[in-house]
Amino acid sequence: MTSPASPADLSAWGAPQQPRGAALLTDPLLNKGTAFTERERDVLGLRGLLPPRVFTLDEQVQRSLAAVHRKPDSLEKYIYLTNLQNRNEVLFYRLVMDNIEEMVPLIYTPTVGQACLEYGAIYRRPRGLFLSLRDRGHLADILSQWPHQVRLIVVTDGERILGLGDLGALGMGIPVGKLSLYTACAGVHPSYTLPITLDVGTDNQELLEGPAYIGLRRKRARGEEYDSFIEELVQAVSMVFPKALLQWEDFGNTNAFRLLTQYRSRLLSFNDDIQGTAAVALAGVIAGLRLTGGTLRDQRLLFLGAGEAGTGIADLYVEAARSEGLNEAEARARCWFVDSKGLVVKAREADLAHHKLPYAHDHPFIATLDEAVRTLKPTALIGVSGMPQTFTQPIVEQMAAFNPRPMVFALSNPTSKAECTAEQAYQWSDGRAIFASGSPFAEVEFKGRRHVPGQGNNIYIFPGVGLGALAAESREVTDAMFLAAARTLAGMVAQGDLELGRVYPALTQIREVSLRIATAVAEEAHAKGLAQAARPDDLMADIRARMFRPVYREYA
Ligand code: NAD
Repeated sequence: MTSPASPADLSAWGAPQQPRGAALLTDPLLNKGTAFTERERDVLGLRGLLPPRVFTLDEQVQRSLAAVHRKPDSLEKYIYLTNLQNRNEVLFYRLVMDNIEEMVPLIYTPTVGQACLEYGAIYRRPRGLFLSLRDRGHLADILSQWPHQVRLIVVTDGERILGLGDLGALGMGIPVGKLSLYTACAGVHPSYTLPITLDVGTDNQELLEGPAYIGLRRKRARGEEYDSFIEELVQAVSMVFPKALLQWEDFGNTNAFRLLTQYRSRLLSFNDDIQGTAAVALAGVIAGLRLTGGTLRDQRLLFLGAGEAGTGIADLYVEAARSEGLNEAEARARCWFVDSKGLVVKAREADLAHHKLPYAHDHPFIATLDEAVRTLKPTALIGVSGMPQTFTQPIVEQMAAFNPRPMVFALSNPTSKAECTAEQAYQWSDGRAIFASGSPFAEVEFKGRRHVPGQGNNIYIFPGVGLGALAAESREVTDAMFLAAARTLAGMVAQGDLELGRVYPALTQIREVSLRIATAVAEEAHAKGLAQAARPDDLMADIRARMFRPVYREYA
């Protein structure tokens, strides 16, 4: 690890004025709890404030893991982990990183969804900033009060939290969780990160009427009132944290596309629901091609659901197919959408949302997915509709009738919303489907063969993309960077995984995945003249050296 004193070091920021005694124990970035040594206890005025026995970090991790296991349910485990994070970040991240497969579902989906629903009840102490419409005119002042030099912001307005809809100010669990993943998976130093929840009201009547709701009790701002608030935020971030990357998170459909288009070249920013999802799904397709033997150029993708996820994936596919020689029209012609009203076609143009228009082809209207599959004969069927059990037996059987290895991606979350289960996909395709899902499914034994479903979790993409953009001090996060991320991820799927049908690497490899993606993203920034940092000779070694690792500093 490089010296934390290096100003270029991503783990260097927040180097504190040294607090002592009780104040030291309440600073989560500095606190070592029972791991303070005898000498540190003397020098730092900690005698008597801690129980006598000195523990190692490893011993603390074991004790904390046992405490997690003692909690009766996922929400209680989440609360325990949140409290640990607020008490001792090194210990929290060591625990999470050493047990990543067990911890990710606790600190992020699916548990974070339940935590958001109950955020009003379980709220203990602030983490991040709540910026409400009442703060208009003062956003820059409020950001200036934040005690660290921020490089990474995740912001939500709570309108479309996971599959749960409008949760208003309760959405805070999402930016908090995503930023924890940035640190655990890509080594962005915790002091660099700032979760923000914009409280612009909520249209969730139950929350507005409930006694425990923590946000403004008013309907959502729309139009000019909303837009000027966002504009003030963007200006404030640019002014107070000019090197920060901002991730738009869980905004409603109409605002998400608009804000991304409007701000992506003005402010270093991206939208994970659109672009991160696109990259992880495309990576699954690219890895799947290693099994089918096909090329991106000759795919026909049929999407169920034409929202942020679906059109984001298609847009990135178009970028990828263009890089393989197709022109834009040819690439778009390979993407088809069925939304809640049927096949997206030219005849429906007058009623279609803006983001669907590029995929409204000149083709007779088809009312059902079943019929669309029979007519269009897609190579991949991608579910991003939030509608469970819509990939029925006849549909999957059709896919298997004209594809030796059909790709069936049921990406809707949570598990209960998946378009079909892993077991159904394997059974109905006679074990030939290449299946991926948004939420985890257990492996399936079918006709004596083991099938391991891939989980197309955005966690494979956004931490690495963010780290790469920060390391290069890129001016922009481009689609080409997401494409580089998708290709890197697909290239990291081991042959052994592919043979089991798994199109994503194991989560235990996430630090290496993020590092390689970050390197590819930074490389792209340097190649396209977007990087503001000097290019080190060995880009990967340089990024690796900057990644935060949860080890205690020695004070004395
Ligand atoms: P969205 O609200 O932007 O879009 C949903 C789309 O589905 C809309 O176009 C809607 O018209 C369509 N739809 C609704 N009912 C339908 C029906 N009966 N038939 C066909 N289409 C229908 O939401 P989104 O952000 O695009 O997310 C969609 C789903 O994808 C969610 O369930 C989400 O959990 C999932 N998702 C998965 C991942 C992942 O796996 N990594 C990432 C992001 C989103």
